[in-house]
Amino acid sequence: MTTYFNYPPPELQQELRQIAQAIVAPGKGILAADESTSTIGKRFSEIGVENTEENRRLYRQLLFTADPSVGENISGVILFHETLYQKADDGTPFVELLKQRNIIPGIKVDKGVVPLFGSEDECTTQGLDDLAQRCAQYKKDGCHFAKWRCVLKIKRNTPSYQAILENANVLARYASICQCNRIVPIVEPEVLPDGEHDLERAQKVTETVLAAVYKALNDHHVYLEGTLLKPNMVTPGQSCPKKAAPMEIAQATVTALNRTVPAAVAGIVFLSGGQSEEEASVNLDAINKFPGKKPWPLTFSYGRALQASVLRAWSGKSENVAAAQEELKKRAKANGLATQGKYVAGSIKTVASSKINFVATHAY
Ligand code: 13P
Repeated sequence: MTTYFNYPPPELQQELRQIAQAIVAPGKGILAADESTSTIGKRFSEIGVENTEENRRLYRQLLFTADPSVGENISGVILFHETLYQKADDGTPFVELLKQRNIIPGIKVDKGVVPLFGSEDECTTQGLDDLAQRCAQYKKDGCHFAKWRCVLKIKRNTPSYQAILENANVLARYASICQCNRIVPIVEPEVLPDGEHDLERAQKVTETVLAAVYKALNDHHVYLEGTLLKPNMVTPGQSCPKKAAPMEIAQATVTALNRTVPAAVAGIVFLSGGQSEEEASVNLDAINKFPGKKPWPLTFSYGRALQASVLRAWSGKSENVAAAQEELKKRAKANGLATQGKYVAGSIKTVASSKINFVATHAY
């Protein structure tokens, strides 16, 4: 086995490192607003809003015209392709609105999951073929980081070796293509919460998956200081009869990460994975309060746990825009405090803060 390699040139290393560090600056995290057209359709149907391009534009406009103080707690927003090229009513490009708020635009670059032949309902994620060209264009259009989501499922015989290896490798290949195009990759190997498994099994599977991911990233010469990891928190399966307290979740999560994620990684930005807004804030807070080794900033990249109350408050009505923006600000504040272990449970109330956002088999 040869060990030939090239480190990226120092200027590229510096650029990637600076972007990644800005995203995980103290008290800040990411708003994942990159729902695909079909996924946002599901969210809209819950509030009785039709899934049209104009309604999607109006909704994202609401998010990106919130009071600039959201920039105190939101450092980056992940966009879907369509959204990147949309504009506000007055013609201001959304990317411009984000920049005005000191928020870094990011982009979802994967093209969704497909089944793995011969597996027990497992999947991989596609989108590599034209990724280099797309990344180059997205960088020109103002995006400085990207997201690619892989999905692993816990069942009696899964995740399989096939799924673990394939997803680790596709994430590594994606990450290297992003870095080559001056884009910070968010590496997201999500272990789904579906199932009856207990906390310990979730922890062991998360460790196995992350160990494979970091082996693959190393094999592909990915510059870790210019990456972010977007993992699941370690929680018992959604149908496990034994629930876990926030401190137990924190211990399992921090232990799994310590065992597998190199200290060189710029930061860890958790997905919310169907937790309620309040659970996602309380668990992130517990993770940051947990007295273990934590060599990386531990923050959020929430989709549902930052938007459930916003969507409910908005309900598609223009007269509700200001109230919905207020919900976003409150949730962002709660999570900003949680990144510092300073969130007091129940202290910030939003209209859907206790709504469980779990969606069964959220793979597709
Ligand atoms: P949730 O926080 O809703 O899990 O979504 C985050 C995300 O972007 C998953 O890829």
